Amino acid sequence: MTTVFSGILWIGIYLALVLAPLLVLLVGPVPPGSGFWWDLSMAIGFAGLAMLGVQFLLTARFQRASAPFGLDILYYFHRYMAVFALVLVFSHYLILRVVHPAALGVLSPFEAPWYMTLGRTALLCFAVVVVTSIWRKPLRIPYEAWRIEHVLLTLGGLLLAIGHVKGVNYYINTPWKRPIWIAFMLFWVLLVVYVRVIKPWRMQRKPYRVVDVIKERHRSWTIAVQPVGHAGLRFLPGQFAWLTLRASPYALKEHPFSISSSAERPNRLEFTIKDRGDFTRTVHTITPGEIAYLDGPYGAFSVDRAEAPGYVFLAGGVGIAPIMGTLRTLADRHDSRPLLLVYANNRWEDVIFREALEDLKSHLSLRIVHVLAEPPEGWVGERGFVTAAMLERLLPDNRQQLEYFLCGPKPMTQAVEHALHALGIRMGRVHTELFDMV
Ligand SMILES: Cc1cc2nc3c(=O)[nH]c(=O)nc-3n(C[C@H](O)[C@H](O)[C@H](O)COP(=O)(O)OP(=O)(O)OC[C@H]3O[C@@H](n4cnc5c(N)ncnc54)[C@H](O)[C@@H]3O)c2cc1C
Repeated sequence: MTTVFSGILWIGIYLALVLAPLLVLLVGPVPPGSGFWWDLSMAIGFAGLAMLGVQFLLTARFQRASAPFGLDILYYFHRYMAVFALVLVFSHYLILRVVHPAALGVLSPFEAPWYMTLGRTALLCFAVVVVTSIWRKPLRIPYEAWRIEHVLLTLGGLLLAIGHVKGVNYYINTPWKRPIWIAFMLFWVLLVVYVRVIKPWRMQRKPYRVVDVIKERHRSWTIAVQPVGHAGLRFLPGQFAWLTLRASPYALKEHPFSISSSAERPNRLEFTIKDRGDFTRTVHTITPGEIAYLDGPYGAFSVDRAEAPGYVFLAGGVGIAPIMGTLRTLADRHDSRPLLLVYANNRWEDVIFREALEDLKSHLSLRIVHVLAEPPEGWVGERGFVTAAMLERLLPDNRQQLEYFLCGPKPMTQAVEHALHALGIRMGRVHTELFDMV
């Protein structure tokens, strides 16, 4: 209930921040309107800009604001709102171009008023940001390069748009509206300063030291870190943190990883990382003694947020990481509830934490079912992919009362979600962690 209440509260705050600039504009003396299309264009221009300003809030990773939804949901919302805001800002321009072309002046930046050129350049920046974010993968833009471009162009676009509004000086030119608008703009800029300067500074003051680098199966490594001179991180089982290694926290070189160690042992945090790209490929070269920085914890993928008489975990490959953290936590808590782990891998040699999982069986009421796509000869266990028919056989009779935690490659999570749905499991009971944010 508290989560629902806090979710509603944050949605209210978001709406207030988006709508407040618009309301301020409409209250008190307004310039004489120039017809429906003119007023509509102004309203959606300001609304779009306010939404773009608040976009920073959605990805600022405020723990309290993200807790009720989960960070992945906020990122998806950020994405859709960006497209919506771009449509609004572009429509603002398009309406004027079609209905009031004289108000816009010529297109040439050398002859147009400076504030019109600022507005158009801002629009271009926002359009590039949206296009490169939606089609980053097909455009083959490396994640790090995209992130730098994303931050610079959004910030640049916002400053240019603020310059445009100020230059046009329409609707904000009464004595008391101007300071309020300046306050809004200052708020947006301070938000960026908080995310890019204050937060990294705080991370830098709370470093961690790598104490272990353990080779796991399937091109994966576990990195263990310990806090240096501070209390470390309190987290819920299944949550994740952004990890920075061999870089400053200001450098935008952080990567999200689930915590695969027990939440009851915050003095040593472990991340189990599969080699997938530029950064993860270097993880095996990390050595004990190196400094790490963490930003977290985040995420709603936690048994502590879904009370139930028992749990079913469905993992694929390195998707076992948050589930391992959860099982270790439950073992440390001497939890006696029945647990089922369905763990899908291609081959037996790929199964990360194989022995550690067996060991956990002696501390928990845990049943483990390995599912192999390419089983070795003589394999008598489950084979192929996780299907509805397989789950029908494996799930206990009280399946409707259990909570389900699912983490693996996207095709697997989608297939298992459908399978659980087909078995009549309420989707509110199925919690999914996707190892991909944008
Ligand atoms: C909530 C969450 C938890 C995760 N937990 C784990 C885990 O426990 N173990 C594990 O092995 N992997 C985990 N991942 C995936 C991991 O973050 C990516 O594999 C890693 O960041 C890839 O970086 P790269 O430079 O090696 O690969 P690249 O080839 O550069 O990237 C591969 C893909 O990973 C994503 N990615 C890359 N960099 C980042 C970044 N800085 N932030 C967000 N996404 C990025 C992008 O979609 C990119 O296309 C998790 C991801 C998320 C979102």
